[in-house]
Amino acid sequence: MRIGVIATVLAMMGGATQAGTVDQSIRPLSRTAQDIEVSRSAVSLVSVVAPQNSLRPNLRPAVVQTPETLISTATQSGFEDWIEDFRPRALRQGISADVFDRAFSGVQYDAAVIRRDRNQSEFTKTIWDYLDSAASDARVNNGKAALRKHGSLLNRIETQYGVDKDVVVAIWGLESAYGTFRGSNAVIGSLATLAYDARRSDFFEEQLIEALKILQSGDVRLVNFKGSWAGAMGHTQFIPTSYQSLAVDFDGDGKRDIWSDDPADALASTANYLAKNGWAKGMPWGVEVRIPQGFDYTLANRDILRMPSDWAKIGIVDLDGKEVPDHGSASVLLPAGAKGAAFLIFKNFDVIETYNTADAYVIGVGHLSDRITGAGPIRSDWPREDRALTFDERKEMQRLLTAKGFDTKKIDGKIGPLTINAVRAFQQSIGDIPDGYASLNILKKLR
Ligand code: CA
Repeated sequence: MRIGVIATVLAMMGGATQAGTVDQSIRPLSRTAQDIEVSRSAVSLVSVVAPQNSLRPNLRPAVVQTPETLISTATQSGFEDWIEDFRPRALRQGISADVFDRAFSGVQYDAAVIRRDRNQSEFTKTIWDYLDSAASDARVNNGKAALRKHGSLLNRIETQYGVDKDVVVAIWGLESAYGTFRGSNAVIGSLATLAYDARRSDFFEEQLIEALKILQSGDVRLVNFKGSWAGAMGHTQFIPTSYQSLAVDFDGDGKRDIWSDDPADALASTANYLAKNGWAKGMPWGVEVRIPQGFDYTLANRDILRMPSDWAKIGIVDLDGKEVPDHGSASVLLPAGAKGAAFLIFKNFDVIETYNTADAYVIGVGHLSDRITGAGPIRSDWPREDRALTFDERKEMQRLLTAKGFDTKKIDGKIGPLTINAVRAFQQSIGDIPDGYASLNILKKLR
């Protein structure tokens, strides 16, 4: 989406207004209000699961584990007991005994799944490292190729759902490298292991029940019922509950098949997902902007919404010095604080956020969608001398802030709005720019 195009479309549409909060109830992964909080941050240190099959960051951002929780007392026999207990619960929810027994035939406790689950927060990336990979030359070129190869399909999807095809392709590119890595874990085995595991059993038991319903519906054969270690399935990594509410049969063969090599159903399902969450066609997710000297950094806050023409009055303009068109109300996002790139972000940012709440993911999708339609790289520099804080360092920062009277309320290693506000207050107290960026430099000053 180039800005010129957007401006033209906007003019044709007669302008647009900022919608209210998007419906947070439908999304690939269940997220709590706390998760949403985490993403509403000026800081985007992204937890990433290695290896990089999917670029989905912060799979479940609220979940932060310490190494000691790696110790698991799970056993295969305990797992089998759990399946026995679970069976009547599944049957009460409409799963037939035959489908259940076939689905669970030979299913084993998968310790590797639990290791992945526990390790999520151990790997962190800065936003610039994340974006280097999200919008790498290879991913941009493959995205352009996908747009060409599937042009006719994507045009039909765009017309039917009113969702720009480049954003659908960008999600495809980040979730599975355009279908290359759709996940090879057996969905039932992974979800059963996670449901048996005590950490988040209610969430995963719900996913498991829905997975069994999918199997029972005949949309997919057991042999093809594959996904990520966490049960995200197909080209664009839907979890079972999202599949049940939003997947569509686009090619009309009677099956909602997001697993097959043909991406038609998966891409249409993704467009449907974005449409149902309020996508505004032809509108930007965000625009890179220039922040003027003397800017009041406390205005860089997701809750402060103004029209771009109003932001322009205080000097926030695009990188060519031009006013950003009034695509709708926008807030200022500084994902790496005052020393990194700045964006005006719009309603479609919130819509992408329903797919994954991490700022880095949303910017990654938006930027990749811009790149595959011909836009250039992000032009501002990032503070590349910074590194991501470790989990322990994030907790140390919270402890030090709280001890100095800047209460973060929680010492949980998650950089959410409370921590950002505490960082801002600390920055103001020492005469620094209050951008709320929880950097290593701030930690050093706290020490
Ligand atoms: Ca189909």
